[in-house]
Amino acid sequence: MKVTVVCEHNASMDSEEGKKAYPEGLGVCLKTMLEEAGHSVTLVRTDETGADALTDEIIDNTDVMFWWGHWYHLKVSDEIINKVADRALRGMGMVFLHSAHDSKMFKRLLGSSCSLKWREDGEQERLWCVDLTHPIARGLGEYVDIPHEEMYGEPFDIPTPDELVYIGWFRGGEVFRGGCVFKRGLGKLFYFNPGHETYPTYKLPAVRQLLCQACAYVAPQIPLKDKICCPHIDGFSVKD
Ligand code: ZN
Repeated sequence: MKVTVVCEHNASMDSEEGKKAYPEGLGVCLKTMLEEAGHSVTLVRTDETGADALTDEIIDNTDVMFWWGHWYHLKVSDEIINKVADRALRGMGMVFLHSAHDSKMFKRLLGSSCSLKWREDGEQERLWCVDLTHPIARGLGEYVDIPHEEMYGEPFDIPTPDELVYIGWFRGGEVFRGGCVFKRGLGKLFYFNPGHETYPTYKLPAVRQLLCQACAYVAPQIPLKDKICCPHIDGFSVKD
């Protein structure tokens, strides 16, 4: 499967904690994880200049797109958001990680503010599985523990998920819908809250297994459809 990892680079990743968590880079960590699962992976680095490295050719050849961003969501152009959203609605799978809840892409597909409660304490998060039969949770037991993570809490302004797989619990008492699936058009997307850049969350075997299972779950089940709409609409076009 062709997987694209869109991963922002920010100054926090260059801090002592950031380099200690991911000496190779967080994006490279995700890329390697997916390659080990047998996928062909393209890593696209975004930064304060935007996401121009996410070219049409890459978008048009992606089966599943991972999206990690934090500081520079607003730098991603609307043109790129339109293209990725179009492909997602035609069946491309998407996995949104951590602060991607605040990305233009996630908000576009969900249609709400996606705001949440926040605290950066680096405390334990326990993700309780609320659907033990779900393919994303296969073989992972009743819960997944993250030793250190940023707290994301309810209320989380999202539409009711089509499938709720995990609810995160934090030592501060907060809870959070941290693992949920949404169906949009012919595509599926999965949101997973853990993954702040200064904690090595994506090195945890259980998290790697969960994300690889999420990748397989949101993958297109049928060939991607061309855009089809009423020909009277101004600007009507059908992709080649
Ligand atoms: Zn964070």
